[in-house]
Amino acid sequence: MLSKYITNLAICLLLLSINEITSAQLVDGYPEEIANKLLEQQQAETSSIAKMPNPEAANFLFSNKRWDPGSKILVAFNGGDVNLHRAIEQQAKLWEKYANINFDFGYDPIKNKYRTWSESDAHRVAHIRIGFSEPGYWSTVGTDSISNYGHGERNSASMNFQGFADIPIELLNPRWKYIVIHEFGHALGLDHEHQHPICGKEFRWETGPNGEESVYKIFKDWQGWKPQVVDINLKPKPIKTNSDYMTQIPDKESVMMYAMPAQAFIKGDKSPCFTRVENKNISKLDGLGAKMAYPMNPTEALQTADAYKRAALSLASTPLDGLNDTEKTVVKSRLETALQSRKPLLYIQIHNESDRKEALKIQELARESGFFAPGIENVSHKNLKSGPQIEVRYFRDSDLDSAQQISSLLTNQLGVEKVKILHVKALASTVTRNMVEVWYP
Ligand SMILES: [Zn+2]
Repeated sequence: MLSKYITNLAICLLLLSINEITSAQLVDGYPEEIANKLLEQQQAETSSIAKMPNPEAANFLFSNKRWDPGSKILVAFNGGDVNLHRAIEQQAKLWEKYANINFDFGYDPIKNKYRTWSESDAHRVAHIRIGFSEPGYWSTVGTDSISNYGHGERNSASMNFQGFADIPIELLNPRWKYIVIHEFGHALGLDHEHQHPICGKEFRWETGPNGEESVYKIFKDWQGWKPQVVDINLKPKPIKTNSDYMTQIPDKESVMMYAMPAQAFIKGDKSPCFTRVENKNISKLDGLGAKMAYPMNPTEALQTADAYKRAALSLASTPLDGLNDTEKTVVKSRLETALQSRKPLLYIQIHNESDRKEALKIQELARESGFFAPGIENVSHKNLKSGPQIEVRYFRDSDLDSAQQISSLLTNQLGVEKVKILHVKALASTVTRNMVEVWYP
């Protein structure tokens, strides 16, 4: 891995191991228009930083696409069976050992089903939307999965595993596990290790003095990649510095590093950016980086979240006069995403399916009032306690307002007679964002 803070790139494509190139299916690179859009986004972010009165806040915001530490990140599937979903969940959750984050796949043991999304969804049902029908293995990076610029739309995939749903999971090439870990690394906001600033000087960008092939030629022949796909996946991020990475030299064991031909580097296999084998597991430094980006300690987690929020708010009040139209669009989109991901979060839990209809109404009303209300969960199988009447639960003192807002929606708009507002102080230290829950009896 890994950037200490997270990344600027929106989508990454995964390569094949050079060792498996003959046996594994080749990845084509993602569609040209997406690659173009990503480059445009990256260039607009870089150029706008220089033009803004508070470049530090802009840089911080563009190079950090992580979620608030402690967040529950909802994941949903479009296609595939329960065995595949479970297998993906298991690999994704390996990150939770290091990062203070919870990937929630919405498993319902009664129906033996995971959360699903579809192209006809009127609202975004999950932060990460997995599909299997587009070409390639890729993921949006961090909060780009909920951005309105790029692949964050409510009804499109933010992560894709081509062909995984076509055959039983046991028959897939075992490297599928690594592919899932790598893509969920991106979903956390992690950069490629080979996009460490040092590697910028290591790649052979131009044909060598003795006719050695450039990376553009090598990747065109090897992966069929267009130049923009090479740039997006190999070039160091323009706004990164060495200090953004954990170590001065790249971590050759990182799961976020590609194994690629030695000829891609001027120094060949002596390059610090070259690794002979595809790294299959989260490395020691990957884990450390994830820990730093998503601290477990509640105080540190809160500080991390607050720093981001401050940068977003400071940028939101900045006039964008000097920016061209593309720059404005990109800056506004990043700001919206940053602030959207910090909308008050509402979870709705029911015990009886007969309450779902009303729960859907409260979900709709909450959305209209600016909440992120991603779904309704039937928790009857979890054997959790709830009171005899509808409860609105909040955790941190500062979220009382949001709890009252939801409570008044229930009483004033839906005519619910008794609503109990419950302050669950014991869990306050684990909550790092504005969050409330509705519990049906
Ligand atoms: Zn990647």
